[in-house]
Amino acid sequence: MNDEIVVFWFRRDLRLEDNAALSEALRSGRKVLPIYIFDENVPPFSSENNVKTLFINAQLQKINLEFEKLGAALSVAEGNAVDVFKEILKYYNVYAVYANREYEPNLIKRDQELSSFLTTQKILFNTSKDQVLFERDEIVKSDGLPYKIYTPYSKKWLERIQNMDLPFFECTLNTAKLVHNKFYFSSSESKMVFSSKVNKWPYDLSKKTIDNYTDTRNFPGIDGTSKLSNHLRYGTLSVRSCIREAMKSSDITFLKELIWRDFFTQVLWHFPFSVTQNFKEKYNGIVWRNNQSEFEKWCKGETGYPMVDAGMRELNSTGFMHNRVRMITASFLCKHLLIDWKWGEAYFAEKLLDYDMALNVGNWQWVAGTGCDSAPYFRVFNPSEQLKKFDKDFTYVKKWVPEFQEFTYTPMVEHTQARKRCLETFKQGLLNVT
Ligand SMILES: Cc1cc2nc3c(=O)[nH]c(=O)nc-3n(C[C@H](O)[C@H](O)[C@H](O)COP(=O)(O)OP(=O)(O)OC[C@H]3O[C@@H](n4cnc5c(N)ncnc54)[C@H](O)[C@@H]3O)c2cc1C
Repeated sequence: MNDEIVVFWFRRDLRLEDNAALSEALRSGRKVLPIYIFDENVPPFSSENNVKTLFINAQLQKINLEFEKLGAALSVAEGNAVDVFKEILKYYNVYAVYANREYEPNLIKRDQELSSFLTTQKILFNTSKDQVLFERDEIVKSDGLPYKIYTPYSKKWLERIQNMDLPFFECTLNTAKLVHNKFYFSSSESKMVFSSKVNKWPYDLSKKTIDNYTDTRNFPGIDGTSKLSNHLRYGTLSVRSCIREAMKSSDITFLKELIWRDFFTQVLWHFPFSVTQNFKEKYNGIVWRNNQSEFEKWCKGETGYPMVDAGMRELNSTGFMHNRVRMITASFLCKHLLIDWKWGEAYFAEKLLDYDMALNVGNWQWVAGTGCDSAPYFRVFNPSEQLKKFDKDFTYVKKWVPEFQEFTYTPMVEHTQARKRCLETFKQGLLNVT
């Protein structure tokens, strides 16, 4: 075998700038083999044609073009990470593998398995912090325990950031630093779909949007938010660059949303059980109705509440939904229909392009009232009032529910009765546990 090389494994960091682990790999003094794996253990990802893989493929293609300019290439594999690395080791003398850290329990387990395998081969597995600004237990309470409440966490986060320079990880690529022959994995390349139709998903980090965010962020009918979530999910932008822009504004409302992202990510890392269980045990006694046909109506956007239906239809056709509408649709499912938040979480996970386990689980539990720092259970959004407040000209609902007529659209449940039923069920649920 030839000289020792290192592997850089792209995961949720699909970019060539300000990338912590890529920067380390490039400074390792050994040639770098860049790879991406469509990991069979990470549902719902596969190289098949769907909104997520089209987005990923477009970015992989962009990255590959940059490598090709330097006589190298991005190698793309599909399968189980350990098997993929076994294949690589047949052809390369690998000194180390570099990757940015993950925080989801299934990915932590996958990385532990890979790390054990690499150790048996005497190969280093170096991981870096890149996805968030503060990770794991970097921001904890004075007694060393993790924060479960956002406000004190965010205060400490803001204090810490005042005294630090946000790092920028230089990733200067050049021919001499890269392995030149592309590695062909058996099955993956033929399945790669490079579509010209892929939505490039423009984001908006302009000063105007950040400065006006407090006033515009709740109105789904206007372009008042950044549309950063897909880019942060796949790392096509570095979170540090977003935070730098957010910090230029005197209004920190937008920055605070980015802090929620760090907050939920550390919650998931500390409390992985929250993916499948109520964060607060006292809500385990709720008897959800879990009516399958009502769930299907919600999924299709046929509840008879225009704001709920518009949101679900936006999600089904684009893979995105505005945050205000995510709250309304999620509240409707858990509170009006009394369907377990896990059903809604799973549906969003399948459909959202920006699906992020930490944020999706955290927000669903927040809406359901079962989360670590959540809306009180007795806060039941009235979807009609929400419509009047946040889409009073019906700009948003008319776009997604063309058949909508203000007085002829019939709700599947009556709000006052559904609210009463919800409060009774939650109260009884709490009694069931105590
Ligand atoms: C039920 C529910 C499920 C959600 N699931 C996801 C998900 O899977 N992935 C995801 O990225 N966001 C999720 N969110 C949070 C939020 O709705 C989206 O981040 C936001 O709508 C994306 O649009 P934007 O980039 O224009 O956001 P902006 O309003 O411009 O916010 C900027 C960034 O701040 C972060 N952010 C904003 N709101 C939140 C929040 N409530 N919690 C944590 N971080 C936030 C996101 O990274 C976002 O891109 C969920 C919210 C709810 C209520």
